[in-house]
Amino acid sequence: MGMVKFYKGGDMPLELHKVRVVQKLHLVPVERRLDAMKEAGFNTFRLGTKDVYLDMLTDSGTNAMSDNQLAAMMHADDAYAGSQSFERLQKAVEDVLGKKYLLPVHQGRAAENVICRTFVKPGNVIPMNYHFTTVLAHVTENGGKIEELLHDHAFQLKSDHPFKGNMDIDKLEKCIQENGVENIPFIRMEASTNLIGGQPFSLANLMDVRRIADKYGIMLVLDASLIGENAYLIKQREENWKENSMGEILKMMTGLADLVYFSARKLSSSRGGGICTNQKALYAKMEAMIPLYEGFLTYGGISVREIEAMAVGLRETLDESMICQSPSYIKYLVEELEKRGIPMVTPPGVLGAHVNAMEFCKHIPQEEYPAGALAAAFYICSGIRGMERGTMSSVRDEEGKEILADVELLRLAVPRRVFTLSQINYVIDRMTWLWDNRHLIGGLKFTYEPPVLRFFMGGLEPTSDWPSKLMDKFRKDFGDSL
Ligand SMILES: *Cc1c(COP(=O)(O)O)cnc(C)c1O
Repeated sequence: MGMVKFYKGGDMPLELHKVRVVQKLHLVPVERRLDAMKEAGFNTFRLGTKDVYLDMLTDSGTNAMSDNQLAAMMHADDAYAGSQSFERLQKAVEDVLGKKYLLPVHQGRAAENVICRTFVKPGNVIPMNYHFTTVLAHVTENGGKIEELLHDHAFQLKSDHPFKGNMDIDKLEKCIQENGVENIPFIRMEASTNLIGGQPFSLANLMDVRRIADKYGIMLVLDASLIGENAYLIKQREENWKENSMGEILKMMTGLADLVYFSARKLSSSRGGGICTNQKALYAKMEAMIPLYEGFLTYGGISVREIEAMAVGLRETLDESMICQSPSYIKYLVEELEKRGIPMVTPPGVLGAHVNAMEFCKHIPQEEYPAGALAAAFYICSGIRGMERGTMSSVRDEEGKEILADVELLRLAVPRRVFTLSQINYVIDRMTWLWDNRHLIGGLKFTYEPPVLRFFMGGLEPTSDWPSKLMDKFRKDFGDSL
């Protein structure tokens, strides 16, 4: 599906869609890219898109919409209460995710706010395969803490383990026994574990987690923001589920959870989110919070047009030829870069390709942000914007010393059906050039460091004049080419 064989061997990702609306992009010359990077304080978050050729910052709210989604947006029903658009979304959630009761919220973290306010009490512990930034914030905000229970091998960046997002069941049982059932309001499983490189869990593992949840009578919550891609990789990689349809696998996954929530920015459209369940009592516990924080129960802070797009987008996740598009591009990108010796997180996961910056920039100390430096250098030589996921995105301790991150990654997000294969080939070519010239990349230091979430708006400068030297080498090798 979406992958065909090359005549002389190897896999070629093949688009099963055509482009009918386009947006103009700008590839500005390398001199402008260097200036833009300086103006942005060597922080890719601060670049303006007029200077960005391929925006690979994130997959959030950036997937391409289908003709059917855009058409559905035209017949949205903007009644404040009792909207037919909401009824269509409810029906789609029931058909695709198998849950009858739906609470709409404006995006994924709003679902986490409602769930954590309802169930997390001070001193509680939430076992999870791995955290996402927003869920960690909401658990902590309500006085709880998290326990991350991935297998140790999940942190090996180069691996051929097909399910690095699996929860370690022994660690889970130990965690429950040590903390006491009464202190654990729920277990959280995240589909396609975002922060470790978009790595899936297996259905067998989710069944094991369910068995433990039943044994101790603990609720199981599934973060389904990236469930479509996780289901697709189960079909690809898990022997027992090869013959099943996407719809069957999705229902099997959600059927094991008491409560399912999602960010529709990733799952189905460009805005919105939801919480769903088949247990009326769980629904009733959270219901009152929707009008308080989000909006009336039939729109939850989402525009009705987006609700229509969510409903159609949810049904489209059943289409394997649609859902496979981003993972098959990522697989191609990761494998081609690996062939050229570039250190990548493997196996290829979902949402983007992840470059191991600690390996790429071995000569840059972690205190000088190798992943941030790699992101800046890659922008200068390509016009492509990626995201630093390393120490720059971390924090300092009370004494002001850097808390060094476990991994230093450059993430190149591949939103669904947005890029063409020649653009992906351009990514490969420019990354290969940078790999050959990696000795020219130097470190960064902060000039403006916000006290919280410094990676968003912080400003940095190079520790030497390496960016100009990189530009000069680019000019030497590429002549007057962009
Ligand atoms: C993005 C994301 C969220 C948060 O969703 P928002 O819509 O950005 O608030 C939660 N969980 C996962 C796994 C995500 O990828």
